[in-house]
Amino acid sequence: MFADLHLHTRFSDGTYTPEELVAEAHRQGFVTLSITDHDTVEGCPAMARACAEHGLQFIPGVELTAEYEGLEVHILGYGFDPGHPELLEQMDRFQAVRQQRIHEMVARLNEMNIPLPVERVFALANCRSPGRPHVARALVEAGVCRDLDEAFERFLKKHRPAWVPKWKVSVPEAIRLLHRAGGVAVLAHPGLYYADPVLPDLVRAGLDGIECFHTKHTPTVTERYLALAGRYGLVVTGGSDCHGYNKGQPLLGSIRLAPEFVERLQHRIAARRAECSMKGS
Ligand code: AMP
Ligand code: ZN
Ligand code: FE
Ligand code: FE
Repeated sequence: MFADLHLHTRFSDGTYTPEELVAEAHRQGFVTLSITDHDTVEGCPAMARACAEHGLQFIPGVELTAEYEGLEVHILGYGFDPGHPELLEQMDRFQAVRQQRIHEMVARLNEMNIPLPVERVFALANCRSPGRPHVARALVEAGVCRDLDEAFERFLKKHRPAWVPKWKVSVPEAIRLLHRAGGVAVLAHPGLYYADPVLPDLVRAGLDGIECFHTKHTPTVTERYLALAGRYGLVVTGGSDCHGYNKGQPLLGSIRLAPEFVERLQHRIAARRAECSMKGS
């Protein structure tokens, strides 16, 4: 009966293919899945096919890295048209920024006499939306670091020597983009950054929902955001944020979102779609 609406695949920094992820989720008894790769919707068609083969419900998804008043905020998009031309154009732009950032991060490492070839990072990433986890994997493979945590701690975390700031879309722009593509916008894992003071602003900007259930939320944090969702009339979502074998065991199964929340999300998506088709006609 349950859903996982926050999953990463090899199209960004996860280690599963959409097919592997769906097979494993099906084995665990999930009935509804989304895919929320960073700044790409490329995995949606394969995920949709795999879900259909296993008789699972699929909701197109994405996780956009955005920013609001200097704070990095992740915005989950659901239910949009994965072939929407403007959405695809913007994804290309976000991916170009990510690729450029990989070059800059590796250049910093090379300046520190760490002879990591940038080609190796891109080969390991093997996707259009690479990120720091791919640099970390290359550092581990090269024997520079023992594990991904060490790579982040020594080099890649904010303000560490190989960290490079990244241009990000603003949250209101991200919300508008998702809306124009026929989708809804959900604040991802609010417990991981202190976004509470700006929540009223984000709601005014059109935010539709809030991810209350997340692997890294304690029960207290989940309760707090469930209350805020009620106060602001936001839909509630949840997911494991599984990245496969990126960090220890896969997180798939750690969050099982109840069907009532999926139903409310689907209603919100249907309302958005109706609004889009009215505007389009
Ligand atoms: P980026 O999008 O390039 O800024 O990279 C962010 C990604 O790095 C997120 O998806 C996190 O899951 C991942 N990440 C952050 N810290 C760590 C860490 N200590 N170990 C492994 N992955 C991490
Ligand atoms: Zn990630
Ligand atoms: Fe995130
Ligand atoms: Fe995520």
